[in-house]
Order: sequence, then C-alpha cells, then structure tokens
Amino acid sequence: MAYIIDGKKISKEIKDELKEKVAVFKAQGKAACLAVIQVGEDPASSVYVNNKKKACEYIGIDSLSVQFPPNVTEAELLGKIEELNRDEKVNGILVQLPLPKHIDEDKVIKTIMPEKDVDGFHPQSVGALSIGQKGFVSCTPAGVIELLERSGIEIEGKECVVMGRSNIVGKPMAMLLLRENGTVTITHSKTANIKEITKRADILVVAVGKPKMVDSSYVKEGAVVIDVGIHRDQNNKLCGDVDYADVEPHVQAITPVPGGVGPMTIAMLMKNCVSSME
Ligand code: NAP
Repeated sequence: MAYIIDGKKISKEIKDELKEKVAVFKAQGKAACLAVIQVGEDPASSVYVNNKKKACEYIGIDSLSVQFPPNVTEAELLGKIEELNRDEKVNGILVQLPLPKHIDEDKVIKTIMPEKDVDGFHPQSVGALSIGQKGFVSCTPAGVIELLERSGIEIEGKECVVMGRSNIVGKPMAMLLLRENGTVTITHSKTANIKEITKRADILVVAVGKPKMVDSSYVKEGAVVIDVGIHRDQNNKLCGDVDYADVEPHVQAITPVPGGVGPMTIAMLMKNCVSSME
C-alpha cells in the first residue's frame, strides 16, 4: 500500500505556523494585507478568490478585495495595480487569472512590483529562482516541495521527472527540484518515448492538464508520484492527471486528488504574504 501524502493536513500545519507568526507581528503593531483583484465574475475564479480571503482571515492577514467588471480597460487595471504598489499597507498583490482577452496578462504581471508579487509570476521572480537568488516562488510548485519535505521524502540525488513545462507549474517545479539537488528532466507534448523517461523517475511530478492520463505504464515500481492536475470527471467527481486507482498499488507514495497538491497552493500563497510582511 502506498503512503498517501496528506496535503490537507500539511497545509493546515503550515497555516497554523503562519497564524502564530502573524500573531507575534500583530503584537508588535505590524499588519499584513493581501490585495486580491478580480475581473468579471467567473464562478471558478470567485471560488478561488473566496478561498484566498478565508485563508487570510484564518491566519490574521487583512485582505483587500478589488472587483472590476469584465469590460474594465487595461489602463484602468494597470492604474489600480500601480496605486496598490504605492500603498504601504499592502504587502501582496494578486490578480486572479485568467483575464478577459482584451487585457494583456503579461503586462499585468509585469506591473505588480516584485516585492509584492506573492504569486511569483513576475519575470524578476522567475529569473531570481533560475539563478538561485531570493524572490517569490510560484505557489503550486513551492507547495509540492513542502509536501515532499514534510513527508520525509528526500529529493537530493533523486531522479526527478516533471511532466509539463508551463510557466506557472512545470518550469518552476523543475527549478525547485534542481535547487534541492535532484537530477531533473522535463517532458512535454513533443517528448519522444515519454514512458522511457517517466519510468526512470524516483519522483514523478505530473502537470499535463489531461484527466487520468498517467497510468501505471508511465511509472516505476516504488516511485513517488505527485499529481498537480485537477479536473472533474464525467460523474462530476474531482480527479487528477494521474489514474490514481491504477497507479497507487505500484508506488511508494502518492498525492490524492482532492486533498493533495490543491490545498498547498493557498497555504504557500499565505506563506509568501507573511514573508512579504517580514
Ligand atoms: P498547461 O499550461 O496546460 O500545461 C500542460 C503541460 O503539459 C504543457 O507543457 C504540455 O506540453 C504538457 N502536456 C500536455 N499533454 C501532454 C502529453 N500528452 N504528454 C506530455 N506532456 C503533455 O497546464 P498547467 O497550468 O501547468 O496545469 C497542469 C495541471 O495542473 C492542470 O490540470 C491544472 O488544472 C492543474 N493545476 C493545479 C493547481 C493546483 O493548485 N492544484 C495549480 C495550477 C494548475 P506543451 O508545452 O508541449 O504543450
């Protein structure tokens, strides 16, 4: 039986540690504030935004909501970000993605000052990670590292394979595993003989965005499998990029969906907000 990596429990531990830290800051008269900007009322985005607000409340971080209609102009949105950049009370700025097509996401991300870029998407944050300097790290891959470390899974010297090369998951994930002294390979949709590569992995991180794509034929016996994917199957049940029922009997440890990587993303966002305050 595989060890089930409990993201719900680990994310709660992290949030409780942050809550204690914030209480100490508050006693010294300091406060943290996360500004969350949402454009339009996409139901999925609203759920994410609400979950972020709830996590802030739990930890003791103030949250400032900025809601724009879907037809807001790019100039208005950028103007608001610049105002929040200047606001000394605001430690972190987050713009809920995706944005409507008429707004250039890259421009929006670049406008957030790197010191308040708690999502870790700014080119300066990404560059800092690549060259081993301090900066905010994208929350989902940072959460995967915490899951591994807090489950006692060593990364150093391990053969790590990351399936997926997106800017928010795959690429920063690979950089973080490298920073932890893993030997890292990235695969993508054009990779030839992909199973030959994934079957070498001691640690396989799957972020392909394809429901249940990765079955046991991709996985080495005794590997650790981290499933970043999140989807609804035909029965409206949550599932990941990994075919959990097929893979679980063959591995040493695995993350479930839900309750694996998902809860870690918000916990790491909160961690970034607290570091920003520090
Ligand atoms: P994405 O931008 O769609 O990237 C998917 C990556 O997988 C791409 O690099 C793509 O290759 C690669 N890929 C697609 N099909 C493949 C195949 N058949 N074989 C090998 N590689 C393949 O997705 P993402 O934003 O990284 O997200 C990945 C998954 O994680 C999604 O299910 C998403 O919902 C989930 N997610 C979860 C969280 C969380 O908090 N749990 C956060 C973010 C994302 P190419 O580059 O060649 O196209």
